[in-house]
Amino acid sequence: MRIHHLNCGTMCPRGGAWFGGKGGPWATAPMCCHCLLIESDDGLVLVDSGIGVDDVADPSRLGFLFTALTRPRLQIGETALRQIADLGFRIDDVRHIVPTHLDMDHAGGLADFPAATVHVHAVELRAAKEPTFRERERYRHAQLSRVAKWDPITVGGDRWFGFESVRALPGGRDDVLLVPLPGHSRGHCGVAVRTEAGWLLHCGDAYFHRAEVAPAGGRAPGGIRVFESLVNVDRAARLANQLRLKTLNRERGDEIRLISSHDPVEFAACRG
Ligand SMILES: [Zn+2]
Repeated sequence: MRIHHLNCGTMCPRGGAWFGGKGGPWATAPMCCHCLLIESDDGLVLVDSGIGVDDVADPSRLGFLFTALTRPRLQIGETALRQIADLGFRIDDVRHIVPTHLDMDHAGGLADFPAATVHVHAVELRAAKEPTFRERERYRHAQLSRVAKWDPITVGGDRWFGFESVRALPGGRDDVLLVPLPGHSRGHCGVAVRTEAGWLLHCGDAYFHRAEVAPAGGRAPGGIRVFESLVNVDRAARLANQLRLKTLNRERGDEIRLISSHDPVEFAACRG
């Protein structure tokens, strides 16, 4: 299966080195929305969808808090829809979308692909449809209400390298798997993709900075750690899953490559 790495939304929060960039607190610390486009036997599969076309036209869909803090670049050329068209595919070629979770910077492009089925952890879909007061800001009704077809996935599938995993696609395929990694959000998942070079595990927002899963140990810059704690729904579960990912990276790093949504260094390495 051929895999394309797409940045579907650059964000430019301030914070400099404290937020993983360079310079003082007023310098920007660019972040990406790392999405995957997979050419499979069953059409195109999109892992996460980033900022959508309608979000670029009307940023209020993303909410004031998100746009004020992350300062998204909002360029139509960065949307998954435009990039997939530029690669020479038709929009209806996208048959499946597998979001890691449904936060506004991951779900904006879902409705841009009306022919696609969205395979999402049932717990995450329930959280988005019945958010608590704290969750109301992160799930955007304007983005989610126009999704043509949901496929809520329940836990109970196979194990995968010690993780409870669920097959994401119908038809008995086992090359794209949903791997529950809750903590950042209620039903947050990683997405494991089998490639010729081994597995690629898209960890979504289970971690934000490569140092958090580095086999040699390390810590994310302070601002990122504070941000992760502010937005997680279950801090203990998030930290436990980060530890599992770090262990996986240390013990199986030659078979499994970990990537996350917002680390621009990881993204550049994948594109390179
Ligand atoms: Zn995110």
